[in-house]
Amino acid sequence: MTMDKAFSAQAKQQLEEEQAKLKEQLGKIATKDPKVAGDYDAKFPQYTDTTETESGDFDDSAHEVQDYADAIGVENTLELRLQKVEQALGRIESGSYGVCSNCKAEQSKERLEADFAADTCPDCAGA
Ligand SMILES: [Zn+2]
Repeated sequence: MTMDKAFSAQAKQQLEEEQAKLKEQLGKIATKDPKVAGDYDAKFPQYTDTTETESGDFDDSAHEVQDYADAIGVENTLELRLQKVEQALGRIESGSYGVCSNCKAEQSKERLEADFAADTCPDCAGA
């Protein structure tokens, strides 16, 4: 049994909306890597002119590094989610949407409605 067309269409719409939102968020905090498709690099914040090396800006650069570390964490989370969303869209295109990628069991609509990008059933996801 495969997903009915109406449900697939609903999932596709939801996933495309999320995909657009994720791309917008990523665009704010990261630069798309032109060499790697779908890869983003966190922008390094510039609060101070880095050519100035007076002893006083040590705190500022430490702050920049901390913010950069935060941005990388957020960026990675968004990028991984975007990959999941795009993989789910790919599965809709290929007709394998709604099947657990691990045990190949049919996923319930309730499971997919909770997360349209879910690629494993609750058992395999350890939920
Ligand atoms: Zn499974």
